[in-house]
Amino acid sequence: MKHSVILDMRPEVAKMVQAEIAKGRGLGLSELAPRVMQSEIRAMTVESDRVGGVNLAQGVCDTEVPQVVADGAIAAIRDGHNIYTRLDGIQRLRRAIAEKTERMQGLVVDPEREVLVTSGATGSFHAVAMALFDQGDEVLLFEPFYGYHVGTLRSLRVVPVAVELDSRDWSLDLDRVRAAITPRTRAIVVNTPSNPAGKVFTRQELEGLAQIAREFDLFVLTDEIYEHFIYGDAKHLSPAAIDGMRERTIVMSGFSKTFSVTGWRIGYVIADAKWIGAIGYFHDLLYVCAPSPFQHGVAAGVEQLGKTFYAGLALEHESKREMLVAALKDAGMTPHIPDGAYYILASTKGLEHVLNGETAAQRARSLLAKTGVAAVAGSAFFRAGKGEDLLRFCFAKKDEDLADACRRLRGLR
Ligand code: PLP
Repeated sequence: MKHSVILDMRPEVAKMVQAEIAKGRGLGLSELAPRVMQSEIRAMTVESDRVGGVNLAQGVCDTEVPQVVADGAIAAIRDGHNIYTRLDGIQRLRRAIAEKTERMQGLVVDPEREVLVTSGATGSFHAVAMALFDQGDEVLLFEPFYGYHVGTLRSLRVVPVAVELDSRDWSLDLDRVRAAITPRTRAIVVNTPSNPAGKVFTRQELEGLAQIAREFDLFVLTDEIYEHFIYGDAKHLSPAAIDGMRERTIVMSGFSKTFSVTGWRIGYVIADAKWIGAIGYFHDLLYVCAPSPFQHGVAAGVEQLGKTFYAGLALEHESKREMLVAALKDAGMTPHIPDGAYYILASTKGLEHVLNGETAAQRARSLLAKTGVAAVAGSAFFRAGKGEDLLRFCFAKKDEDLADACRRLRGLR
């Protein structure tokens, strides 16, 4: 800072500024910046593109966009829906979301007061965290966790507290949840079906969590973005549908995955009207609104696609899951078989002779070099020192690309 500027300041302010300069503050990153790491998922995508690999790292989901959804967005652009929308989203989409939620989950939702259309589930989570938490508050989440949940909380100086799931079958130990609660705990994040483990929380587990949430007066933040990717006998149940949980549950979901439109950025929050106002305020500050023509395209899809579409989506992905599980086994890995979502965590134990490196990040790079298949280091989903034997593979790919990846993986041995 120039000396003359300092001279123009009130003496007590100038003194403070000079003290800061003496500390060497000046140009530089915020205190938080070095701690918020670049996502390992994005890093592997860059690496995969560089070597022309098959990217099973990022959940980009490049399957076809349903015709009605694509046509709806194109028509909306031509019809002039290209300006800001209301901060809570277009009425047509809020109504479609409320109707679908009642039809599929049995939850009665007021589209005027309890639904907020957001810039993806990512935008939902950020705005919700800004509206509900203060610096130093603690929020529980289950490990393995989705990195953006942790990163977003940290970026707001909220403390993420990991509660470990049983690595054999990702079951939940409620005593561990209780043990993690402190006077600063404000919420529990439930991602069901989960990324990366593909865990679908059972009714019993959700009822147990609900009891804890009531006992300690906690919010439950759900991330249900994979609600339609459910396999075998698993059933998706929203924590908001558990008796007595509506008021304290903030439901977050979106259409990135269901309609294969990850780049459109359309998600939503369903919550009690008491919370929606403040969440909408912060969402407006961050994003203003979700993209207008894409809100229309998605609304057309939610209105016109029913049970058959969602059941077909699940079946299609179940068969992709089978393809990749078989290839990973043939490659010598031990895959955890997911009940939902579209990722597989696979153990690389025993493959030390073919995959170089001590850490999962090194092994992911070695796998890419040897097979041209990109996966994400399992350690990205755990606290430091854990998940080093795991790699995460995404199977939401076009069949021909997945088949190519499977063929390459089988060549590992
Ligand atoms: N939540 C989870 C658990 C995810 O895995 C992802 C994407 O990978 C997202 C949210 C992102 O959703 P959106 O594209 O709606 O922001």
